[in-house]
Amino acid sequence: MQYRSTKSDGSLVSFKDAVLRCLPEDGGLYVPDSIVDMRQFFLYMNSETTYPELVATVAPILLHGELNPFSASRVAESAFDYEPELRQLDERFSLLSLYNGPTGVYKDFGIAFLAAVMEELLKNNGRVMILSAVRGDTGVSIAQAFYKRQGINSVLLYPSGPIRGLDPATFVQNGGNIIPIQIRGTFDDCQRLIREAIHDRPFAERYGITSANAINPGRLLPQAFYYLYGFIKIKKYLSGNLIFSVPSGNFGNLIAGLYAWKFGMPVHGFVAAMNVNNAFGDYIRGKQFIPRPLITTNSPALDVSIPANYERLASFYGEAPAVMRNMVYPSTVDDKVTLGAMERAWKCYGILIDPHSAVALAAAEELFESFEVGSHVVVMSTGHPAKEAETVAKATGQTIHLPPRLNVLQKKSDPIALIEPQLDALEGAIVSCF
Ligand SMILES: *Cc1c(COP(=O)(O)O)cnc(C)c1O
Repeated sequence: MQYRSTKSDGSLVSFKDAVLRCLPEDGGLYVPDSIVDMRQFFLYMNSETTYPELVATVAPILLHGELNPFSASRVAESAFDYEPELRQLDERFSLLSLYNGPTGVYKDFGIAFLAAVMEELLKNNGRVMILSAVRGDTGVSIAQAFYKRQGINSVLLYPSGPIRGLDPATFVQNGGNIIPIQIRGTFDDCQRLIREAIHDRPFAERYGITSANAINPGRLLPQAFYYLYGFIKIKKYLSGNLIFSVPSGNFGNLIAGLYAWKFGMPVHGFVAAMNVNNAFGDYIRGKQFIPRPLITTNSPALDVSIPANYERLASFYGEAPAVMRNMVYPSTVDDKVTLGAMERAWKCYGILIDPHSAVALAAAEELFESFEVGSHVVVMSTGHPAKEAETVAKATGQTIHLPPRLNVLQKKSDPIALIEPQLDALEGAIVSCF
């Protein structure tokens, strides 16, 4: 599978080049160009297939010529010691839990694969430096996925504020390969610095700079895998249409689903479940996208004004406007309805779900009447409920504690450098580590 820029002049790059450069020089984002139809490969997988098995089967077909089956199997085994979990709630709904990874959010799946595949693609062949703008738990996810990967150093760029969940033993001065740097500035400053560092060719080439942020197409591809996994787990129960409901902020998860469809997954539609920050819904309906000021809600990961994957969705839309209009159903859920869905999940099904998953469940419930009789919706459960314990308590009256593996997320850490938000300061801090 080859990649092109969303602002393509027609030139194509390999997966490896797309992952290791991660930003085309024309200012676009990389997207898959040639699409492989994989129907024949996953239609005979079944509910016995494990997640690493699925990844080891699917990845070498998609990355034919770049990742052989042996390499793919190593990547899958080293990336995933956890799996998504599908639970059928009733005839209408199932829940696909994607929060079993080290930081309890679906993003762990993409990051873990990216780290493992990068190590495999680099084998005995150069070094790279991953620069990632991080906040919340994403830094921990990246640090854990990249720790001890051969040939890779990982710089985590934090905005002002507390840093949590990192283990100093993994830092570069203690013999590890993790380099947490804090800047005096905002998350947007961090993202801007990374773009500048990638486009500073002499520096980028000397250090082999790339990123583990969502701009890297190596995070998007593996997110298609858990849609396929959801499909193979549910297919024996299906009698009608299959629909996925996806809580959407930056739309990375949703676009991965659209790629799974392109790879041949027999799906009939996707609910783009948003909270009141829903300006992007108009765009999906075919209108112009006009960003609106941000509103704070009880599903914070969906509080996004301009989706980071706008370029990718626009590019997809450009290729297949009818698909977008017929297969993607935008839907808005406010805070009250979110709490109501959390309460119903507890009362009707005996499960606690986080508010982001609840947005997806509520949106699916609201649209269900409009789906064909016999349809089944797989609701993407993107975050561990214990990470939003206060909202869970408010909606259900239940107390939920973090599982022990997520306790580290609360421990405070110090960066190894504090710098001004300028490229020369960043490059200086990186150079001084070696
Ligand atoms: C990031 C995140 C989302 C939103 O996913 P996008 O790909 O940004 O649309 C939803 N739920 C949780 C828990 C998240 O962390």
